[in-house]
Amino acid sequence: MSKKSTNRIDPVSVPLPPEGVDSHAHLDGEEFDLDREAVLERAAACGVSHVGNVFLNPGHLAARRHYFADHPQVFFLLGVHPCHGRDCTPQVIEAMRQAFAEEPRLKAVGEIGLDFYWDDCPREVQYEVFTAQLRLARELERPVVIHCREAEKETLMVLESQGFAGYPLLWHCFGKGPDLARRIVRNGWHVSVPGPVTYKANEELRETVACIPSDRLMLETDAPYLAPVPWRGKRNEPAFTVFTARAVAEARGQDAEELWRQCGANARRFFGL
Ligand SMILES: [Zn+2]
Repeated sequence: MSKKSTNRIDPVSVPLPPEGVDSHAHLDGEEFDLDREAVLERAAACGVSHVGNVFLNPGHLAARRHYFADHPQVFFLLGVHPCHGRDCTPQVIEAMRQAFAEEPRLKAVGEIGLDFYWDDCPREVQYEVFTAQLRLARELERPVVIHCREAEKETLMVLESQGFAGYPLLWHCFGKGPDLARRIVRNGWHVSVPGPVTYKANEELRETVACIPSDRLMLETDAPYLAPVPWRGKRNEPAFTVFTARAVAEARGQDAEELWRQCGANARRFFGL
């Protein structure tokens, strides 16, 4: 056993008040098939009162929403990820429209956007699918949650040119510097901060997050990915949001409980919980 594993802290031993929100997690994935109930119990025990589960297509929503039948604290997001853009046929858009009409737990369209890092879907398809889902969100009057990787300039161009400045929009998994943060804030949007803000090397990210107005901030895990320190490298889960919150609060020179409540309130307002 490595020495590092002895430093893992049980999140349940460092809970925060029961008002926190993990704005973005993928708990319907098979990574949680063996212990989903325990994961949700731990989240509640740590003060995470709501979790946003992101379904990547309407088929996943239909097949897996029953996982959360007994957990009303889990709300839903639905959107075709840019890496899966080729799956986003007109039939899928229609199925999304239906899903939003029928499922009251669906609160936002996302994660949608552009991803030029993996680049496993042609860029012209990504643009098309992104734009089609933005149109759907506007039609349904739902907030939008953005996924953007190595495509910041292009994503901003799409959003600003299509009149989404001032629209309820959350930039998920924020990991960039002050220029992008300023632009997001100027457009009236929100920022969701993930676990990597706890990584030693990410000093610029901590400085950037410290400057974001407190009414625009949220917290997320993106579970099962991107676990914060002291669980870096392991499967992430909503309970670990408490570690991210403490790192963000420290960077901002703010009390962790205060930041936790503020981010939770922002999420409840944004998603209409
Ligand atoms: Zn995600």
